[in-house]
Amino acid sequence: MKYKLINGQLLLRDNGNYTVEQQDLYVKDGKIVAIGALKDDADFTVVDAKDRLIMPGLINSHGHLYMTTFRGIADDVDFNEWLFERIMPTENKMTPDEAYNSCMLGCMEMIQSGTTSFLDMHMFAGQSARAATETGLRAFIGRCIVGDDLHTDAKARFDELLTEQEAFESDRIRFMVMPHAIYTCSEQLLRQLDEEAKSRKMLKHIHMSESDTEIENCLKEQGKTPMAYLRDIGFMDEMTSMAHCVKLTDEDIAIIAKSGATVVTNPASNCKLGNGFARIHDLKEAGVNVALGTDSTASNNTLNMFREMGVLTLIHKGIHKDSTVLPAAYVLDTATANAARAFGMTGRLGEIKVGAYADLVFVDLNAPSLFPNNNIVGSLCYSANGSEVDSVMIDGKFVYKNREFLTIDREQVLYNIKKDR
Ligand SMILES: [Zn+2]
Repeated sequence: MKYKLINGQLLLRDNGNYTVEQQDLYVKDGKIVAIGALKDDADFTVVDAKDRLIMPGLINSHGHLYMTTFRGIADDVDFNEWLFERIMPTENKMTPDEAYNSCMLGCMEMIQSGTTSFLDMHMFAGQSARAATETGLRAFIGRCIVGDDLHTDAKARFDELLTEQEAFESDRIRFMVMPHAIYTCSEQLLRQLDEEAKSRKMLKHIHMSESDTEIENCLKEQGKTPMAYLRDIGFMDEMTSMAHCVKLTDEDIAIIAKSGATVVTNPASNCKLGNGFARIHDLKEAGVNVALGTDSTASNNTLNMFREMGVLTLIHKGIHKDSTVLPAAYVLDTATANAARAFGMTGRLGEIKVGAYADLVFVDLNAPSLFPNNNIVGSLCYSANGSEVDSVMIDGKFVYKNREFLTIDREQVLYNIKKDR
């Protein structure tokens, strides 16, 4: 399809600064091909975007989509009870079909609240790739890997990743190497996975420095912090993104800055599980690339990136007792351009510019929660709750238009989940 989007207010980014300009936007073959004017636009379908902000789709850089139906099963309990008594038993009983339905529910929630790309660390081979394929979302997917040796106990999971990659990989759906964490993978396995990722030119993702126990055990067993340990293994580079990073020393921050790795912060999940919050202001000052994720609904309990942006900036303003830290434009970057950088897709994702993927969100500027539009970037961070999203285009195709899903049978997804209960 070819689209000419007229009368919309485009959220443009230049050198880290955002502007809003009313200009026509042309989309062809999944990409933005022109802004302003195009000579020969006779066969483009015209879409009137009057009173709409057209912004880059949000990118959720950490989550576990199969857990979406776990929403609300473990609120207000301590971390050990959350994990060992609530989450793991539920996970162990789950079937691949249930995981698929859960992924579809997650895709619905993400699309409806303006997310167009997601990173998923999963436990059910093929199910999130299947959901992304059907719904049209852009995805960065990896099998959660644990164990000691890639040739023995971790082999089956790694093979699953390769099989899934073979079956589903496309320009829109990419696969990544995802060891779970340093405390569930041996040093040998982390080295093996790093080698595999490098030889296959795949991106890497891992949970890091999430809880006090993880830090204490690493200091006891390795004599260094998790960050120093991961660096010494050689795992940490610009192809690596690390979720959480809640417990960091000044030295850890310097290590991350030097490595070029990305920190994916999950402020709502970290706070809800009582794990604290990452030092995002300090990471920013040190020049570390920071992206944003919701984590799963088992610990958030939503996949709404507008809520996440608000939580991120409010927490840090409060902690630092300084209203100037983490300004709205920076926070918006963590959900767009910085995530694109983590995926090696700067200029092609997370921004509205010629040549970039047409992953676009149409926001109703007349929504009471955004009106009047005194400061649009600020409003996306401090006022929006996701309900203002009116339409969503991914890869040049509408997946949600005038608040209707075009790729998902909403009633069927809800029925499939309800019937198993
Ligand atoms: Zn996680």
